[in-house]
Amino acid sequence: MLVDDQNIVAEALRRMLADEAEIDYHYVSDPASAIDEATKFKPTVILQDLVMPDIDGLMLLKFYRSNPETKVVPVIVLSTKEDPKIKSEAFALGASDYLVKFPDKIEVIARILAHSRSFLAQQQRDEAYQALEVLKKELEEKNTELERLSSQDGLTGIANRRIFDEFSGKEWGRAARDHAPLSLILIDIDHFKTYNDNYGHQGGDDCLRQVAQKLASTVRRPSDLVARYGGEEFAVVMPGTDLEGAKRIADALCDGVASMNLPHAHSSTADHVTISLGVASAMPTTEGGPEQLIEKADEALYQAKKSGRNQFQVAD
Ligand code: GH3
Ligand code: MG
Ligand code: MG
Repeated sequence: MLVDDQNIVAEALRRMLADEAEIDYHYVSDPASAIDEATKFKPTVILQDLVMPDIDGLMLLKFYRSNPETKVVPVIVLSTKEDPKIKSEAFALGASDYLVKFPDKIEVIARILAHSRSFLAQQQRDEAYQALEVLKKELEEKNTELERLSSQDGLTGIANRRIFDEFSGKEWGRAARDHAPLSLILIDIDHFKTYNDNYGHQGGDDCLRQVAQKLASTVRRPSDLVARYGGEEFAVVMPGTDLEGAKRIADALCDGVASMNLPHAHSSTADHVTISLGVASAMPTTEGGPEQLIEKADEALYQAKKSGRNQFQVAD
């Protein structure tokens, strides 16, 4: 795209480029419309006259550089003279090249092609980079989703067994370092086999979801974890909570599930769904691991079942 107020220059350039199939020539005689024309024509290189009646060519150079449409388009300045001062000013303002009118045909074509090609190559790199950024973002979103899916129990939406194992191991170590207590509650739905037999597997699944939600909403500390431990078994891990605190939570969980009043016609414990809970607490040491705590809670859970269900028992 040539921007020059003199038609004679435009004609000379048109003749020079006439045989160049690779070059699309666009002439702009009014420098005031240069940005608009560039926006429409999308030049790969601009040839810019410096001396024009209404506008200073160097000013225009500034406009090109501040306008998003022309910001990176190479500009070849067409000057009337070889003047070091103008030349350095032009380059300082972002010109890509400086030619004194009128250079010979071979040089004009060579420079136009060189600047156009480097502009196009840069543009392609930018586009490829942007496409890559989009892909990267998509991948990150997919990874986050994958992360969520692999840590979530598919049926109930709470943390799964994998997360429970990871979490209890990590928290055991942290509690050992901090000399802080760690408590665990293991939970098992009472007479769930007969619930399934009576209300069907779908009904059983619904029940599991509701119980899970109740447990999750009853345990409020952000540092606690509620997870599905197995089929109809759940676990609550409570870092920094001692036995007294854990008993209070166990009590609230037991009451919470019972008070949902989910009908269970074939339970010999109550006419609604109930849970049994085993509570265990420890002051972790760096030698041991959470296995002992899990075993203790499991024994306590067994005691709760034996003692009539719908209750919690505490490990020795
Ligand atoms: P108890 O009071 O002693 O705990 O008796 P229970 O019937 O609850 O215990 P049992 O271990 O005999 O039965 C557990 C049942 O839980 C058996 C199994 O079909 C059911 N179950 C386990 N996982 C799922 C599940 O994902 N969905 C459904 N619907 N049922 C499940
Ligand atoms: Mg069970
Ligand atoms: Mg059960």
